[in-house]
Amino acid sequence: MDDCIFCRIVRRELAASIVAENDRVIAFMDIEPINQGHTLVIPKDHYAALEELPPDIGQEMFKMALQINQALRRSDIKCAGTNLLLSNGSVAGQEVFHLHLHVIPRLVADGSGFRFNSKNRSRPGRKMLDELAKKIVAGL
Ligand code: AMP
Ligand code: ZN
Repeated sequence: MDDCIFCRIVRRELAASIVAENDRVIAFMDIEPINQGHTLVIPKDHYAALEELPPDIGQEMFKMALQINQALRRSDIKCAGTNLLLSNGSVAGQEVFHLHLHVIPRLVADGSGFRFNSKNRSRPGRKMLDELAKKIVAGL
Protein backbone atom coordinates (compact mmCIF):
# COMPACT_ATOMS: atom_id res chain seq x y z
CA MET A 1 0.00 0.00 0.00
CA ASP A 2 2.19 2.83 -1.34
CA ASP A 3 0.12 5.80 -0.20
CA CYS A 4 -1.38 4.43 3.04
CA ILE A 5 -0.25 6.81 5.80
CA PHE A 6 0.14 4.05 8.37
CA CYS A 7 2.15 1.86 5.97
CA ARG A 8 4.34 4.89 5.40
CA ILE A 9 4.85 5.22 9.17
CA VAL A 10 5.83 1.53 9.32
CA ARG A 11 8.37 2.15 6.52
CA ARG A 12 9.64 5.26 8.39
CA GLU A 13 8.69 7.50 5.47
CA LEU A 14 6.45 9.60 7.73
CA ALA A 15 7.34 10.87 11.18
CA ALA A 16 5.73 9.19 14.17
CA SER A 17 6.37 9.11 17.90
CA ILE A 18 6.82 5.37 18.32
CA VAL A 19 6.31 3.84 21.76
CA ALA A 20 6.59 0.11 21.07
CA GLU A 21 7.21 -2.29 18.21
CA ASN A 22 7.95 -5.88 17.35
CA ASP A 23 8.00 -7.90 14.09
CA ARG A 24 4.24 -7.74 13.65
CA VAL A 25 2.81 -4.66 15.39
CA ILE A 26 3.82 -1.10 16.15
CA ALA A 27 2.36 1.60 18.43
CA PHE A 28 2.71 5.35 18.09
CA MET A 29 1.13 8.54 19.36
CA ASP A 30 -2.08 9.69 17.65
CA ILE A 31 -1.36 12.94 15.80
CA GLU A 32 -4.66 14.49 16.98
CA PRO A 33 -5.19 13.01 20.43
CA ILE A 34 -8.60 12.90 22.10
CA ASN A 35 -6.64 13.28 25.35
CA GLN A 36 -2.88 13.41 25.98
CA GLY A 37 -1.36 9.93 25.70
CA HIS A 38 -3.78 8.74 22.98
CA THR A 39 -1.87 5.94 21.24
CA LEU A 40 -2.58 3.80 18.17
CA VAL A 41 -1.57 0.14 17.84
CA ILE A 42 -1.43 -1.13 14.26
CA PRO A 43 -0.37 -4.28 12.44
CA LYS A 44 2.79 -3.72 10.38
CA ASP A 45 1.16 -5.40 7.38
CA HIS A 46 -1.73 -3.61 5.75
CA TYR A 47 -5.19 -4.95 6.65
CA ALA A 48 -8.07 -2.58 5.95
CA ALA A 49 -10.81 -4.46 7.78
CA LEU A 50 -11.21 -6.66 10.82
CA GLU A 51 -12.45 -9.48 8.58
CA GLU A 52 -9.00 -9.64 6.95
CA LEU A 53 -7.00 -9.57 10.17
CA PRO A 54 -5.28 -12.86 11.10
CA PRO A 55 -6.33 -13.75 14.68
CA ASP A 56 -2.74 -14.01 15.90
CA ILE A 57 -2.07 -10.44 14.74
CA GLY A 58 -5.23 -9.34 16.55
CA GLN A 59 -3.85 -10.98 19.68
CA GLU A 60 -0.55 -9.14 19.25
CA MET A 61 -2.40 -5.82 18.87
CA PHE A 62 -4.43 -6.41 22.01
CA LYS A 63 -1.35 -7.53 23.94
CA MET A 64 0.52 -4.35 23.00
CA ALA A 65 -2.54 -2.23 23.88
CA LEU A 66 -2.55 -3.85 27.35
CA GLN A 67 1.12 -2.98 27.80
CA ILE A 68 0.50 0.61 26.74
CA ASN A 69 -2.45 0.83 29.11
CA GLN A 70 -0.20 -0.29 31.98
CA ALA A 71 2.55 2.15 30.94
CA LEU A 72 0.07 5.02 30.79
CA ARG A 73 -1.21 4.20 34.25
CA ARG A 74 2.38 4.11 35.59
CA SER A 75 3.26 7.42 33.91
CA ASP A 76 2.34 10.92 35.02
CA ILE A 77 0.06 11.33 32.00
CA LYS A 78 -3.45 11.98 33.29
CA CYS A 79 -5.44 8.78 32.89
CA ALA A 80 -8.39 7.98 35.13
CA GLY A 81 -9.56 5.21 32.79
CA THR A 82 -9.09 4.04 29.21
CA ASN A 83 -11.10 3.28 26.11
CA LEU A 84 -9.78 0.65 23.71
CA LEU A 85 -11.50 1.43 20.44
CA LEU A 86 -11.30 -0.20 17.03
CA SER A 87 -13.53 1.26 14.32
CA ASN A 88 -14.19 -1.28 11.56
CA GLY A 89 -15.73 0.27 8.43
CA SER A 90 -16.73 3.84 7.64
CA VAL A 91 -20.17 3.25 9.15
CA ALA A 92 -18.36 2.57 12.45
CA GLY A 93 -16.30 5.75 12.14
CA GLN A 94 -13.13 4.33 10.54
CA GLU A 95 -11.28 7.06 8.68
CA VAL A 96 -7.87 5.47 8.12
CA PHE A 97 -8.27 2.16 6.31
CA HIS A 98 -5.28 0.48 7.85
CA LEU A 99 -6.70 -1.19 10.96
CA HIS A 100 -5.73 0.40 14.24
CA LEU A 101 -6.61 -0.04 17.88
CA HIS A 102 -6.93 3.22 19.81
CA VAL A 103 -5.75 3.37 23.42
CA ILE A 104 -7.44 6.50 24.71
CA PRO A 105 -6.81 7.83 28.22
CA ARG A 106 -10.02 9.12 29.78
CA LEU A 107 -10.31 11.85 32.36
CA VAL A 108 -13.14 12.71 34.69
CA ALA A 109 -15.63 14.90 32.79
CA ASP A 110 -13.43 15.17 29.67
CA GLY A 111 -16.52 15.69 27.54
CA SER A 112 -15.86 12.63 25.35
CA GLY A 113 -17.98 9.51 25.17
CA PHE A 114 -19.90 7.19 22.91
CA ARG A 115 -23.35 8.16 21.80
CA PHE A 116 -25.63 5.26 20.96
CA ASN A 117 -29.15 5.81 19.74
CA SER A 118 -31.21 4.78 22.75
CA LYS A 119 -34.28 4.47 20.49
CA ASN A 120 -32.63 1.41 18.89
CA ARG A 121 -32.25 -0.19 22.31
CA SER A 122 -34.79 -2.64 23.62
CA ARG A 123 -35.12 -5.87 25.61
CA PRO A 124 -35.82 -8.32 22.78
CA GLY A 125 -36.76 -11.24 25.02
CA ARG A 126 -35.03 -14.62 25.41
CA LYS A 127 -36.56 -16.15 22.24
CA MET A 128 -35.13 -13.42 20.02
CA LEU A 129 -31.77 -13.44 21.88
CA ASP A 130 -31.56 -17.23 21.40
CA GLU A 131 -32.37 -16.87 17.68
CA LEU A 132 -29.67 -14.25 17.25
CA ALA A 133 -27.19 -16.38 19.23
CA LYS A 134 -28.00 -19.32 16.92
CA LYS A 135 -27.17 -17.26 13.82
CA ILE A 136 -23.80 -16.28 15.27
CA VAL A 137 -23.05 -19.84 16.42
CA ALA A 138 -23.75 -21.04 12.86
CA GLY A 139 -21.00 -18.74 11.59
CA LEU A 140 -18.35 -19.72 14.13
P1 AMP B 1 -10.17 6.31 12.92
O1 AMP B 1 -11.20 7.40 12.89
O2 AMP B 1 -10.47 5.22 13.91
O3 AMP B 1 -9.87 5.77 11.53
O4 AMP B 1 -8.86 7.00 13.48
C1 AMP B 1 -7.82 7.51 12.71
C2 AMP B 1 -6.86 8.13 13.68
O5 AMP B 1 -5.60 8.27 13.05
C3 AMP B 1 -7.28 9.51 14.18
O6 AMP B 1 -7.36 9.51 15.61
C4 AMP B 1 -6.16 10.42 13.67
O7 AMP B 1 -5.87 11.49 14.53
C5 AMP B 1 -5.01 9.45 13.53
N1 AMP B 1 -3.99 9.83 12.56
C6 AMP B 1 -4.17 10.22 11.28
N2 AMP B 1 -2.98 10.47 10.69
C7 AMP B 1 -2.03 10.23 11.61
C8 AMP B 1 -0.59 10.29 11.60
N3 AMP B 1 0.09 10.66 10.52
N4 AMP B 1 0.05 9.95 12.74
C9 AMP B 1 -0.62 9.57 13.84
N5 AMP B 1 -1.96 9.49 13.90
C10 AMP B 1 -2.66 9.81 12.80
ZN1 ZN C 1 -1.47 0.54 5.33
